[in-house]
Amino acid sequence: MACSPPNAVTGRIRRIKDITAAILLALFIFPPFLRWDRGPGAPSQAILCDIPGRRLLVFGGEFILRDLPILLAILIGCTALLFLVSAVAGRIWCGFACPQTLWVDIFFRVERFMKRHLRGNPLLIEHASRAVQLLISALTAFIFLCWFQDSWSLPALLLTGTAPPADYISLLIGAITTMLLAAHVRERFCINMCPWPRFQVAFVDEQSLVVTYDSGRGEPRGKKRLPLRPDLLAPNPLAFALDGVAGMANAPVSRDLIAMAAMEAGLRGDCVDCTRCTAVCPTNVDIRQGLQIGCIGCGLCVDACNDVMKKLDRPLSLIRFSTESGAPVKAFVRAKTIVFASLAVVSLGAAGFAVTHHDNTEFTLEPDRTPISLANGDVRNDYQLHLSLHGSQDTRVSIEAIGLPGLQPRIAGTEAATIDAAPDEDVQERLVVTAPASDHLQGRAPFVFRLINDATGKILATRQTFFWAPGSEQ
Ligand code: SF4
Ligand code: SF4
Repeated sequence: MACSPPNAVTGRIRRIKDITAAILLALFIFPPFLRWDRGPGAPSQAILCDIPGRRLLVFGGEFILRDLPILLAILIGCTALLFLVSAVAGRIWCGFACPQTLWVDIFFRVERFMKRHLRGNPLLIEHASRAVQLLISALTAFIFLCWFQDSWSLPALLLTGTAPPADYISLLIGAITTMLLAAHVRERFCINMCPWPRFQVAFVDEQSLVVTYDSGRGEPRGKKRLPLRPDLLAPNPLAFALDGVAGMANAPVSRDLIAMAAMEAGLRGDCVDCTRCTAVCPTNVDIRQGLQIGCIGCGLCVDACNDVMKKLDRPLSLIRFSTESGAPVKAFVRAKTIVFASLAVVSLGAAGFAVTHHDNTEFTLEPDRTPISLANGDVRNDYQLHLSLHGSQDTRVSIEAIGLPGLQPRIAGTEAATIDAAPDEDVQERLVVTAPASDHLQGRAPFVFRLINDATGKILATRQTFFWAPGSEQ
């Protein structure tokens, strides 16, 4: 397929699109390269989808299968947000944030660059564009893989041929898919393959913002040399009856009637039929024919037409974001937007609460409250410990008792203060704590148990309890 990108355009919408694309691409590219120290032997990637370990690591948090409800709440919240955005602003997701749109836009830029710099050599333009696009596709697949592997060691493994075969297969599939969708299928994906435009019909209504062409002002379209409809030059064209045209003087008439009369009179509306709006459209839509399923709401035709209007010294916004009828939005707040916004707030709020209170350690302590005086004068207290670690690996846990001088914890029947816990195992142990004889040990004194991951040094849990001196049982 020969390279035929849509024309470039500058303007406010293009700038917003570029800023949005830069933010979204940064969110895709950089997170896998952030580091997070989890201690020796543990992955040091801040965000890692660890498929073999069946867990998701996000900075200090570890999410496993039992945390699936959090993921579901996030998905429901994001879906509700998408519905909300569609109800308010039509296909803004498709035009500004969809990965297909972003990558196709990058590939168009490559083709336009080659066309500009390799003038008159179509074959060279074609091959050079495809080579760069293939490189971008490979990089895309590599970054995608970095979300699932240690990103810092992956390049060396891949280049030395020591990475697992699954990595090479994933890279190949990722690169081919990107190339296929962004360089070859392109707008046909949005029009024929993506289900979203079909769903979206249910959310968009007469109050949603969509890209519209003001036919009442633009028609009849005609070459620049034709005289402009006089009503468009009036301060208030709507209140103006087309003076002297087709006998309609001083009568209140609709804009469509004015346009028809103007055509008969050899006049033109604001559209000079330059087709710039179509030439910049990534999906080849002529928005002057009305809203179509191919329109992804990218707004580039708005910029293109505004540019033409500026040059003609005519008011902007012949093509603009407005309701389908062209009237301004009367109510952003309506039943469906309230429902979607509420669902998004509740779901994302619940997910946020669950994430900030997320803990993979279940730890309870039951004191015996029966101090025992030992032969050497020391005092012993016993505690029943329950521990369950929801993770993906066996963990050795050290137990510390802090807050009172000289406290010595150990597991009953051993001299050790460590527990080996398998994932999700319900560990029950008797914990013995001795304190040296002391005049200061009276009544019950508070102290804290601390559980520490032996491998990483991370504090897993702390619990406050009491140490009872002899004679203070209760
Ligand atoms: S860019 Fe504007 S003036 Fe040109 S054809 Fe499109 S609507 Fe008409
Ligand atoms: S008609 Fe084309 S350029 Fe205009 S908003 Fe729709 S997809 Fe974008």
